[in-house]
Amino acid sequence: MLDHADGKPKEACGVFGLYSRSLAGELAQRTYFGLYALQHRGQESAGIAVSDGERTLAMRDMGLVSQVFDEHRLAALESGHIALGHVRYSTTGSASWENAQPEFHGRGDVNVAVAHNGNLVNAARLGEELAAEGFEFNSTSDTSFIAAAAVAELEKGRCGVGEAVVAAMRRFSGAYSVAMIFRDKLVAFRDPHGFRPLCIGEVEGGYAVSSETCGLDIVGAKFLREVEPGEVVVVDDEGLTSRRAEEARRSLCVFEYVYFARPDSRFDGREVADARRGMGEALADESPVEADVVIPVPDSGIMAAVGYSNRSGIPYAEGLIKNRYVGRTFIQPTDGMRQIGLRLKLNPLPSVIEGKRVVVIDDSIVRGNTSRKLVALLFEAGAAEVHFRVSSPPVTGPCYYGIDMDTREGLVGAKHSVEEIRRQIGATTLAYLSVEGMTRATRHPRSGLCRACFDGDYPVPGTASKFALEGATAGEG
Ligand code: SF4
Repeated sequence: MLDHADGKPKEACGVFGLYSRSLAGELAQRTYFGLYALQHRGQESAGIAVSDGERTLAMRDMGLVSQVFDEHRLAALESGHIALGHVRYSTTGSASWENAQPEFHGRGDVNVAVAHNGNLVNAARLGEELAAEGFEFNSTSDTSFIAAAAVAELEKGRCGVGEAVVAAMRRFSGAYSVAMIFRDKLVAFRDPHGFRPLCIGEVEGGYAVSSETCGLDIVGAKFLREVEPGEVVVVDDEGLTSRRAEEARRSLCVFEYVYFARPDSRFDGREVADARRGMGEALADESPVEADVVIPVPDSGIMAAVGYSNRSGIPYAEGLIKNRYVGRTFIQPTDGMRQIGLRLKLNPLPSVIEGKRVVVIDDSIVRGNTSRKLVALLFEAGAAEVHFRVSSPPVTGPCYYGIDMDTREGLVGAKHSVEEIRRQIGATTLAYLSVEGMTRATRHPRSGLCRACFDGDYPVPGTASKFALEGATAGEG
């Protein structure tokens, strides 16, 4: 797939929600821009649902936000004061229209619309339990189980929506940052570990929720706070109320800092760009080298390369030019095109590289194929030496918490030593940042982060597989 040409794992999803009577009539458009800011979190499908408290209209389709929506389609959705948006990259279930979100689930007069980022590690068992309770599922994503479990509690009618979600959360295990519309309420909740981010902002006459603060910024929402791990937030005409399902255990995914999140987003007050610069500085301290120029693998290596250059005193330059318009395309490349896959995205600047000892900074090496092509590209462009520096440790294990990396298969760091990888990719030298150096750069305590794919310490037991719920065996990269 073309979007795997960068060799990076893919984030699961981005979630966005708005509640405002003052902005009624422009919620779909604002949600569109919120999703636009979160596009990096999922490029397979996009969807928006808008509700007036009684009737919910939705549109969702395969493709980028700008491919799914135009002014005409957005205008058809502008009739309500509650909105929900989602961009998706599948980590459970295949890439199909049925699995696009927001998802709807209901029985009788209890209906919910749900947008989810994460992965349940007990999805298969939960699905069986819900099926035994009479629920039927059209999609193969664990999001439908989250929706159904909420419906099951709401049907009991003995409690409000906040309490119902708290009760439903007792059935979930794994990673989930969720926004949901139920009747006249917008609900947001986050698993007790807070693997995936979710934050709240204030807009004129109401509130916004977003996977990242960059989604709030783009719609002019003022950041209020994170949705706390284990918290359920309900927004309606009475304002915002909060309940706690479980004590927070805090295991924010460190990969959000390394690669997934946008550099202008902030987690717990820490700017992602700043953390990435710190990783580059730590890498320069840990693995210095004599060289002429530091270049980043754009875009995610830029901040770490700036940090490496600042700390080492080796000049920074842009030596690889990224074609910013090669996003996901529906045109499948031919085999011949696949050979030049990396060149579709990156082209070297010989004026920066020729005859130089080059330090190239990448944020991670997951499968290794792209790094090999990259090193070859730099030598072809005339580099005298290529010193590969990675601003995170070797990825040695899979992720079951919402990242497209659910098996050890293909993880080059799981099977090979650093020296073996250096030989495979053909670099002059290769060094990774240590787990401790990465952790310090985030300024989180060790106990506040998930680092499982780097150190094997999994905060929640159990595994998840992308296709487990549909019995398929093929993977998507
Ligand atoms: S296993 Fe790795 S990618 Fe997954 S949540 Fe933990 S740190 Fe993030």
